[in-house]
Amino acid sequence: MKRVGIVGYPLGHSISPSFQQAAFDYLGLEIQYETWEIAPDWLYTVKERLCGADVLGANVTVPYKEAILPLLDGVEEICGRIGAVNTIVNRNGKLIGYNTDADGFIRALKENGNFDPLGEKVVVLGAGGVARAVVFALAREKAGSIAIVNRNYERARILADDVKRFYVDITATTWEKMSSVISDCDLFINCTSFGMKHSELEGQSPLNARSIPKRALVYDLVYNPQETQLMLNAKRAGARTLGGLPMLVFQGAIAFEIWTGKQAPVDVMINAAKNAV
Ligand code: NDP
Repeated sequence: MKRVGIVGYPLGHSISPSFQQAAFDYLGLEIQYETWEIAPDWLYTVKERLCGADVLGANVTVPYKEAILPLLDGVEEICGRIGAVNTIVNRNGKLIGYNTDADGFIRALKENGNFDPLGEKVVVLGAGGVARAVVFALAREKAGSIAIVNRNYERARILADDVKRFYVDITATTWEKMSSVISDCDLFINCTSFGMKHSELEGQSPLNARSIPKRALVYDLVYNPQETQLMLNAKRAGARTLGGLPMLVFQGAIAFEIWTGKQAPVDVMINAAKNAV
């Protein structure tokens, strides 16, 4: 029996174990997906655990997506640029980091949102780990412009500066000035935990219906609940919406393919994820 696990702290609400195990079982693979909840003082022990001959790799989640980087032997290109890792593969005792959030985000945007960001005006709310993956992915897809809005403005400015090296039309904006960039955007993405079940922002929305432009696609990366208060407000404003569950499954499907070399059964994973939330 081989093993894969998710590294994070705490891990009580993670649904990755449900849909990854469903995929392994569906294909008859002898792989067990485990929950590796590791307190910050013990993170250094992760390397030894992941290098075991029976371990194929791992997912990494909050709060270790950046902190785990120094423990790895190498990272693929976009993962290095983003500065955050969400998937690790064990290649004969060498740990290689990937960031599948970037590709999972774009695949869901195109396939489920029916939206190609090429040339479009985008507003990204948030500047944490997932926002970094989203902004680099949008730059790679040649979005027309990107405005990053974050409560902590300095974090937004640093992300904008990092991406400027690869992409020019990117700005950081303060939370107070958010309305000035939203009014004519084509795509608004929530990369904060506003609305996330079990968080202190459960049931809350960063925007009211009045401030959402009708022409925009509102993409909420929060996946639990599947329909957030932001999405309800966007519908009231007449805008299209996309939730975070397809991205969660696609980033997991890409990780599955990296570990196993087999095509992921995406429909099986989506059904298992929907049942788990
Ligand atoms: P981080 O902790 O790295 O970042 C959190 C972000 O939320 C920061 O921008 C932070 O702002 C902001 N924020 C938190 N609390 C508040 C508040 N009270 N008011 C305003 N802003 C706030 O988390 P991640 O980037 O990893 O994840 C963010 C969310 O994205 C998660 O909650 C999850 O729902 C979703 N997610 C979805 C995925 C998917 O596949 N669908 C994958 C990963 C995440 P500040 O910098 O000012 O603290």
